[in-house]
Amino acid sequence: MSVRTLATWLLNSKHTTIFTGAGMSTESNIPDFRSKDGWWRNIDPRTVATTTALQNNFDLFHEFYTMRVQGLKQCSPHPGYWILVDWEKRGLVQAITTQNVDGFHIAAGNQEVYELHGSIRSFRCASCSWEVTEEQFLNKESCKHCGGNLRPNIVLFGEGLPEDSWNASILHIRRSDLVIVIGTSLEVYPASELPNMTNGKTVYINFEVDQHNRNFDLIIKGKAGEVLSQANELVKKLNG
Ligand code: NAD
Repeated sequence: MSVRTLATWLLNSKHTTIFTGAGMSTESNIPDFRSKDGWWRNIDPRTVATTTALQNNFDLFHEFYTMRVQGLKQCSPHPGYWILVDWEKRGLVQAITTQNVDGFHIAAGNQEVYELHGSIRSFRCASCSWEVTEEQFLNKESCKHCGGNLRPNIVLFGEGLPEDSWNASILHIRRSDLVIVIGTSLEVYPASELPNMTNGKTVYINFEVDQHNRNFDLIIKGKAGEVLSQANELVKKLNG
């Protein structure tokens, strides 16, 4: 069982959903949250990406997201993203559901993308939800309507998921005869439940694998971009 199995399953599948996490973007130099490299000033980002930090420690919250918004400007989707675009164009992939907030699947050109945790590329007032610009957020302005603090349109720990993206993701996962999970620790609930909702085959591509992942039909230990590239070569070869 290997990347060749993945390529064969992909070619034989009628409905495939890709489910990605922060590990999909580390090869684009965006740190994940789990590994030590992802820590910021020795603070676990998971303690800042919270409603508690937004409400009680806005200075820290704003500084952290300013760093993330600015950091994103230096990064772009790596070739693994382009492979997913190509697979969608060729009818091999029907949907991408992601926990990432970097907007890279959409930036790369995928069409059927569901961002379960929102996007760091748009902003609103934390109190009245008025839409604001990135510049207003970075300048740490207050909302012109109600004076509230400004925030990115992401889902913080402690907030619910956008219903439309969540429901569409469930529909795709249930219809899928193949679900490919890439670069996620599967520690963030409820997104972590998605791979359990399919009757199709499940593949887990991740840098680290442990006993949590034993339920997958196929586990491929490796870097997202490298595994996708190997799989793509085999897909091309097997497809003639
Ligand atoms: P996580 O940090 O908990 O886990 C990432 C997983 O990816 C780890 O198991 C790690 O071993 C693996 N990984 C790292 N680099 C990899 C690579 N090159 N190839 C394959 N695997 C790799 O991330 P998560 O499970 O997505 O959950 C964290 C939460 O943080 C999510 O809600 C997400 O919204 C948010 N987040 C998003 C971004 C982003 O948008 N790029 C970045 C950091 C965190």
